[in-house]
Amino acid sequence: MEEYIAKVLISREELAKRVSELGAEITRDYAGKNLLVLGILKGAVPFMSDLIREIKLPLAYDFMALSSYGASTQSSGVVRILKDLERSVEDVHILITEDIVDTGLTLQYLKANLKARNPLSIKVVTLLDKAARRQAEVFPDYNGFSIPDEFVVGYGLDFNEEYRNLPYIGVLKPEAYKFI
Ligand code: 5GP
Repeated sequence: MEEYIAKVLISREELAKRVSELGAEITRDYAGKNLLVLGILKGAVPFMSDLIREIKLPLAYDFMALSSYGASTQSSGVVRILKDLERSVEDVHILITEDIVDTGLTLQYLKANLKARNPLSIKVVTLLDKAARRQAEVFPDYNGFSIPDEFVVGYGLDFNEEYRNLPYIGVLKPEAYKFI
């Protein structure tokens, strides 16, 4: 698997350090608040799993799975909900947990959808931010790392469902693409 990694962009140690810092910030900001950490499947799973253990507060977590309607409508930001929340959110502060914000279209749709359910607040924590590619006016409230416009894998991020279990964020060699 690792023979296709051109370079390590963010090491395992750097990830752990930054996730711990984000957890401390979130712990300060949400003290005394009813917090629901919302993970977006599948990419956010490793990040969220590490992050919640750095948030030293009572919290609940749940997941949503979203899928884009397909290449031709991708830029419209219309997404399909494949898995929804298990209960109403009117009494909670939602913290959306994302692996990466790229164009921002997925997040824009998700925030609007959740807003209509009247939660106490909605904020976003993302591990990675590719701000150069932003199309929608959405910005994460907490960001692990700002990264250049490169296709990255690892720590939850995939290429064709592979590489999610790498413990670091890496950039793929061009050879990795030629098999599809
Ligand atoms: P957007 O912000 O464009 O609506 O979409 C964000 C989603 O696109 C992410 O959750 C992720 O699934 C995918 N994505 C965007 N950039 C990358 C990348 O560099 N690597 C991988 N593996 N997925 C990405």
